[in-house]
Order: sequence, then structure tokens, then C-alpha cells
Amino acid sequence: MTRPATIFLLYHELALPGRELCQAVAGYVRYVLDAPEFEAHMLAIRQASLAGVSVSHAVEFPGRSIAITFDDGCETDWLVAAPTLKRLGFGATFYVTFAHVGQKGYLSVSQLRELSSAGFEIGSHSLTHSYLPDLEDGRLRSEIFDSKLRLEQTIGKTVEHFSCPGGRYDIRVVQLAREAGYRTVATSVPRTNSARSDCFLLGRVAMTRGFKPDTFERFCRGEIGWRFALNARLRDRAKRLLGNAAYDRVRDMILGQ
Ligand SMILES: [Zn+2]
Repeated sequence: MTRPATIFLLYHELALPGRELCQAVAGYVRYVLDAPEFEAHMLAIRQASLAGVSVSHAVEFPGRSIAITFDDGCETDWLVAAPTLKRLGFGATFYVTFAHVGQKGYLSVSQLRELSSAGFEIGSHSLTHSYLPDLEDGRLRSEIFDSKLRLEQTIGKTVEHFSCPGGRYDIRVVQLAREAGYRTVATSVPRTNSARSDCFLLGRVAMTRGFKPDTFERFCRGEIGWRFALNARLRDRAKRLLGNAAYDRVRDMILGQ
């Protein structure tokens, strides 16, 4: 019997007419979808007779489902994503960077609490959104442990899932996440997950602006094209070769042209 593979989608800030984005650099904006584009994705999932679910739900691998996740904790999580998801009866996991809470463009404390009370899952996206492999052990520990604690104190619920800022992780991240009591760690490696997957290295597919509809429909069927996977592998190789800071500079230079 083949085990069902589940795709985990990764979204970021959503764009609304007249609303300023949290960041303007090209490397950030390419991950920002217009609100109608996000809605079209959710409708495509519904039309494929799939359910959008949280990470907790998805790692039970019930089949016929797609995990919907958001990184960063932008206020459009609450303003745009939550109403759309609610209308379709979908669940989702919102990974929040604790230091962003209450900052301009990000979720306020009350929005974060409302998101959680509305039944959506809150995960940690670290304390300060630093690239974790660049940190020394003490700082790294704080990013993983303290973000969990502070988010739990804010929403009054256990935070069981962690996602890595910029998709960057190393073995220490996995070890500390286990030690802190998380159940999963999500990366940005574009691969599907199944009951055989390592829950501390979950793959996710980051959605980019202007994603072709036919590619998205293929994703809904659990297929990730080889070209897409290859591009992601090349990006990963470039990050390792250049280092995180240099990679970001080169990427913004190329995308900004
Ligand atoms: Zn992030």
C-alpha cells in the first residue's frame, strides 16, 4: 500500500490595495501574494476536494488534506487569511516571530489571541527572526525556548510547532527543538511529507507571487515538479557557498534588476 504524501504550503504576508508591506526588498516581496491570489489558491484546494488543515492535523496524515502554514506573523494573517480560511472551514498553522508582535504591520497581541481563539494553530517562528545557524549556542537556545514560552504565555495554549526563519537550520536547531518540547520543525525544503518523514525536518513549499495556476493544481495533487525541486536545491547550495548574508545581497541584487 502506498502511503499518502501530504503537501505543506508556506505563505507569508498578503497584499491589500493601499496597505504598505512590512518589507520592500525584492527577496521579500516575491513571497507576498495579493489577497485574491491567496483566495484563488484556497478555492483550488476546495475544488480538488481536499481540506486545508493545521500542522497538528496534517502530521496525522489523514489523506485528502493539505497543510496550510504562514510564517512571520504579519497582520494580514488575521485580516485576510483567517476570514478566507474560516469561510471554507479550513485550518492552518501561523508561525509567529515573537519580537514582531505589536510592531507596525504585524499581528497585535489582541489579533494574535483572536487568531488562536478562532481555532487556528499558533507555532513559533523564533524570537527575533535571526538566521539560526549563524547564532552561538546561548542565543540559539533563547530563540527556540523563549519564543515558545512567551507565545504560550500570550495565547494561553501550548505551542508545539516551530518553523525556521529563512528556512535556515542545522542539527542544533533540531536537537534544541526536541529538548524544548516541540513536536515538529518545519523547513522550506520543497518536498512532500508522509508518515515516514522526520517530523523535525518537515518539507514545505513556499508560495511565490504569480505562481502559475497549473503548477498550483499539480501541487494540490501532491506533485512537486523536478524543475522546482532542482531550483530549490541550487538555492540551498548557493546559500551554503556564499553564507546567508552574502546570499541575500546577491539575491536582492538579481531580483531588483
Ligand atoms: Zn520568516
